[in-house]
Amino acid sequence: ESSGTGLASPYAELEVQLRGRAIRPGDPDYDEARAVYNGMIDRRPALVVRCADSADVLACVRFARQHGQEIAVRGGGHNAGGLGVWDDALVIDLSAMRSTTVDPANHTVRVDGGCLWRDVDHATVPFGMTTPTGFVSSTGVGGLTLGGGVSGYLSRRFGLTVDNLISADVVLADGSLVTADAEHHPDLFWALRGGGGNFGVVTSFRFRCHDIGEHGNIIGGPVFYDVADLPDVMRWYRELLPSLPEELSGWIGLATIPPVPPFPEELHGRKTCLIVWCYSGPHARADEVLAPVREFGSPLVVGIQEMPLSALQSAFDPLLPAGMQWYWRADFIHQISDEAIDIHRKYAEQLPSALSTMHMYPVDGAAARVPRDATAFAHRDGGWAGVIVGVDPDPANAGKVTEWAKAYWEELHPTSSGGAYINFMMDEGQDRIRASYRENYDRLARVKAQYDPDNVFHINQNIPPAAA
Ligand code: FAD
Repeated sequence: ESSGTGLASPYAELEVQLRGRAIRPGDPDYDEARAVYNGMIDRRPALVVRCADSADVLACVRFARQHGQEIAVRGGGHNAGGLGVWDDALVIDLSAMRSTTVDPANHTVRVDGGCLWRDVDHATVPFGMTTPTGFVSSTGVGGLTLGGGVSGYLSRRFGLTVDNLISADVVLADGSLVTADAEHHPDLFWALRGGGGNFGVVTSFRFRCHDIGEHGNIIGGPVFYDVADLPDVMRWYRELLPSLPEELSGWIGLATIPPVPPFPEELHGRKTCLIVWCYSGPHARADEVLAPVREFGSPLVVGIQEMPLSALQSAFDPLLPAGMQWYWRADFIHQISDEAIDIHRKYAEQLPSALSTMHMYPVDGAAARVPRDATAFAHRDGGWAGVIVGVDPDPANAGKVTEWAKAYWEELHPTSSGGAYINFMMDEGQDRIRASYRENYDRLARVKAQYDPDNVFHINQNIPPAAA
């Protein structure tokens, strides 16, 4: 055996129990298996197990505990800080567990723990149904859901992703498998809805689905404004959004117009403020509901059209392939202040690369009506989950995009509401994690003590178990 870890024979003992594959240093696909979405992350796990089923996950957890091996869990691998992979750890890689089962009569979908959101859209949108997801289809269901799940398109209308979670099958730290829902393990079910990967490995999620648009078609797309108009656009947007029917949502951000059709050549490379709209209600009302959007300002490009929701939810995929350099900073924003708008304008003008950006996703409407203590996700006051990301394909530009994002965040942070969406954070320490969970933190620590007293699942935005 040549694993290079000095632990070859115990691994062989694990391998005989697996249906999936174990990949070790030296194997031809080791580098592919340890790579995550963020190209800044370069970690060397001891072993990556591509689990085939829940029994494989169970075997990994039991084995790792027996041998004192650290565990990392990988869903879609999109996490900002690359928490799906860790040096010297056993990586429980769920990427081969991608089945979905749709139940159109009951409006539910059951999805395996390693599914990407494109798997869910594929299963549900043809039935004219959906559940709130992320805006890039290659993002993992696992990490996005466990952190809360903010949809810039549908959370105003249907709540966060976790507000639509009916149940989850979880492999716990003691090597057992349980189903958590409102009646069974209700504390665990509460904690899973925002508490991240702290409580176990979710092998399957069941979501409630909703009818959208007509046969899954929505009316939406991006509207780009020149960066000089950003202050007017942001002021208009912050006033308008709360007054709109919840069938219409839009997230606001910064963008550089990409040098590809259908964008006119004279606009390629132009720095802009964009709002990406999604109207998911009856099409007969679309003109009326979208009228204020169509009437406002002097947009450079209006890309609003009828399309399948799955097309909108994958519209940004081609611009954002895996492996680029990503540096993230985030905050919740309950009010967009005039002072904040000036800061956005300043850093929009200094965008350091074509893909670097800032996004604000509404956490209002249905998402804000859920009481703050009803799920682990605590920032339900209305407002936005904001994120600044320095992005570039070239590692040589990593420093430049990082510096821009840090400076932007430092200046903007005092205008924010404290705490950030954990799925937009890299490694920012315990104080920030506490601020993100607010008064829910102590209960989370107690649930952690009950379900994972030894903090086996700690490669995440960690909530250490409460002292006995
Ligand atoms: P991973 O890196 O695989 O995992 C992230 C964390 O979750 C790790 O701690 C991991 O251990 C844990 N985990 C993953 N799956 C499981 C599981 N099945 N059981 C237990 N633990 C698990 N977020 C939004 O809310 N809305 C968006 O619109 C959105 N858009 C995004 C777009 C892009 C391009 C990217 C890169 C991210 C986006 N995010 C969005 C953030 C996203 O929610 C986080 O990056 C999330 O962590 C990704 O989950 P993952 O499964 O892909 O990541």
